[in-house]
Amino acid sequence: MYIDVTINTDDERIGELARRYWELTDEGTFVYSVAELASEFGIKSHQVTKVVKENASAYRTDITCSSCDECYLLTKRTDATQPFYRLVPRHEDWTCEDCLEEEVQVQRDFERYNAEKSKSHSLAQRVICWEADVRHQVYLLAFLKHSGDESLSRILPLGNNRLDLLAPTTEMTFEVVRQLLHNDLISVDPNSPEGAYFVNDDVEFRLYLERCAWLITTFFNQDNAELGEQGIDGPALYAVLDKHLSSDQFLKDNIDDIQEIAWEVVEQEAVAFLEYVLKERGLPQRFGEMTHHVLRKALEEYSLAQVYRMIWQAARNASDYLVRNRVPKQQAANTIPRSIDGYMERARANEWEVSPFRRNFNLPQSVLARVVFNQILGTDDGGFHTPLHSLFGKEQLQGCSQSD
Ligand SMILES: [Zn+2]
Repeated sequence: MYIDVTINTDDERIGELARRYWELTDEGTFVYSVAELASEFGIKSHQVTKVVKENASAYRTDITCSSCDECYLLTKRTDATQPFYRLVPRHEDWTCEDCLEEEVQVQRDFERYNAEKSKSHSLAQRVICWEADVRHQVYLLAFLKHSGDESLSRILPLGNNRLDLLAPTTEMTFEVVRQLLHNDLISVDPNSPEGAYFVNDDVEFRLYLERCAWLITTFFNQDNAELGEQGIDGPALYAVLDKHLSSDQFLKDNIDDIQEIAWEVVEQEAVAFLEYVLKERGLPQRFGEMTHHVLRKALEEYSLAQVYRMIWQAARNASDYLVRNRVPKQQAANTIPRSIDGYMERARANEWEVSPFRRNFNLPQSVLARVVFNQILGTDDGGFHTPLHSLFGKEQLQGCSQSD
């Protein structure tokens, strides 16, 4: 017989009841019905199961845990008469609850160990903010402004800030975090929300960039770097970075880098708006190099506010084309770059003044754009209202060098 009954009471009568309750014939059916047991032992029918459960445990000896050899604990009477494959689909590698829980715990400990290791690795690089790339200094300040917690001791998960965007597109947001991480200015916080990081089947440590919390691993001077983790001072780092990036000297010294970042931000803003209008019109938001090329070309001449109008008009043309000619949606969306190009040519030939759009309520200026255009370049959302060539034009640069 494949039922093992463990009696947990000294009351022999109840022990006997439990033994009989679980007793099977050679054909695998119950020897006694609950009603029979009830009348024999003088208990009400509905109490039999409760009394047995409280005073005995029954196990199936034909199903054992692949890890600890414990037998399958029966939780209800009908499970005793089921074929084993009904209870556990793959009974040769069935694992009991306790072992599963332990496995989960071991896995979690291992993941945490990996997170701690990655944090120690970043701290050991002793990155000092002044020695980091200009781009990374800008990214770090923007990230602290966007997601730094109240005490600036850690950086909260990106998803926690629902008011502001770190960068214009999700793609760029992740790129900012990835670069800070890969260059050891930040590390994953081992105390991130559960499931934010994991170790995959190939034993690789993986992060969900949106769900992780982060720790600052950038020092603001050499003395602090010597102290290791105790030398990390978020508030001081924030204060010096904020002041440094606002200074004229910083702009003068790094004008080329700033210009490069400014370009990337504005291009991403154009991409974000294009995705937005395509989505609004039910068109696919897939586009390639040609579109990026045309957007860059437009931004060389016009402000983003003006390029918004061209994008909006192109999306409208695409959806008119879709309705008129009943073409596939992607085909309609493919007209966008030509349409923007055509708009520019006509505007130039006819000397139109392209009237600017206002910022879309759903696409506010990102924190990164604020750091670049408001804080460093000292404009009021200049990346939106002013063509980049006038922000970074010859006069501007000369202005910079004259005041040297
Ligand atoms: Zn087990």
